[in-house]
Amino acid sequence: MSKIPPVDLSRQYQVISEEANHAVLEILRSGRYIGGEVVSELERQFALYHGVSDCVACNSGTDALYLALRSLGIQAGDEVITSTFSFIATAEAINLVGAAPVFVDIDINTFNLDVALLEKAITPQTKAIIPVHLFGQSVNMSEVVNFARSHNLLVIEDCAQATGAEWHGQKVGSIGDIGCFSFFPTKNLGGCGDGGAITTNNPELAAQIRMIKEHGSKERYLHEVIGVNSRLDAIQAVILQIKLKYLDFWNNQRIEIAQRYRELLQPLPNITLPTALAGGKHVWNQYTILTENRDQIRAALQEKDVLSMVYYPIPLHLQPVYRYLGYKKGDLPVAELASEKVLSLPMFPDLSCEEQQQVAYALKDCLHSS
Ligand SMILES: *Cc1c(COP(=O)(O)O)cnc(C)c1O
Repeated sequence: MSKIPPVDLSRQYQVISEEANHAVLEILRSGRYIGGEVVSELERQFALYHGVSDCVACNSGTDALYLALRSLGIQAGDEVITSTFSFIATAEAINLVGAAPVFVDIDINTFNLDVALLEKAITPQTKAIIPVHLFGQSVNMSEVVNFARSHNLLVIEDCAQATGAEWHGQKVGSIGDIGCFSFFPTKNLGGCGDGGAITTNNPELAAQIRMIKEHGSKERYLHEVIGVNSRLDAIQAVILQIKLKYLDFWNNQRIEIAQRYRELLQPLPNITLPTALAGGKHVWNQYTILTENRDQIRAALQEKDVLSMVYYPIPLHLQPVYRYLGYKKGDLPVAELASEKVLSLPMFPDLSCEEQQQVAYALKDCLHSS
């Protein structure tokens, strides 16, 4: 049997190859490689998909977070609350605007920030919350938005892993003040290179973001603020336009795969399966189980040609770069426990039933012998 990878992007390419080849060649022939109608059209379609007034495309999910924070005026002296169990980019963006991240612990059932802990994290410097919709599952946004409103805080959604996910019928990225998306190839909507976008229902914020990402200028060669260069190129935009049409179909395949994993893995001892909150639409960027002896099991799975991943082995509050914040081991115990036990199994839309069965057999063997 052949190796089962954590994700296989070449299979997704097979589905769109004809359309994509044609569209990319057309861009190559056009000689217009940056900006232009293709990018504006993607922005229009992405805004429409999310039911928001505005979308601004940019170079990456990391830039999207940075641009969002800049546009909201968050700066040195401010604090932003976020989950300690995320990719570094979430927190990094807070530092990049000069503010300080304040980390909160997670709920072990969802791996998302525990809303009940927000109150304790607030100080007079707190300006915003960044809920991260981790692994494809929306944070309980009703609670986050209520909390933010009652404390006069801004909400920036980190939707990098959750394009198409919903909370009570509303798409993530359309619920807070700004939504930040990544088009990194392994995300639910991924390009063939880097890319990102922000969504908002506030046209003034969108205009501000557009200005910052274009070197601080609204009018060419007239610069009002210090900005950055953050562009989505035309080739990515055209590929993303094609893939956006398949997003719901692919997300539904992920949902079916998650259901099948549940059936296959339910009988196995000593593992905890991930759950989807009632009220949300989980789009399963990752299928992440909890297990004892994680590293041993991961190695044993690899012996059996099943490749798994660990997201994330070290929570953000314990990263060397955040030592200056003074967190200690034990401060955010749920995330620390998760970081020792999480194991993400192969998950991508074209994963076959046979492959899932192979994953389940392999895992069963590993659990019995560990
Ligand atoms: C991928 C990711 C990002 C960053 O996106 P890039 O496009 O890689 O810059 C931010 N936050 C989370 C949670 C991510 O998974």
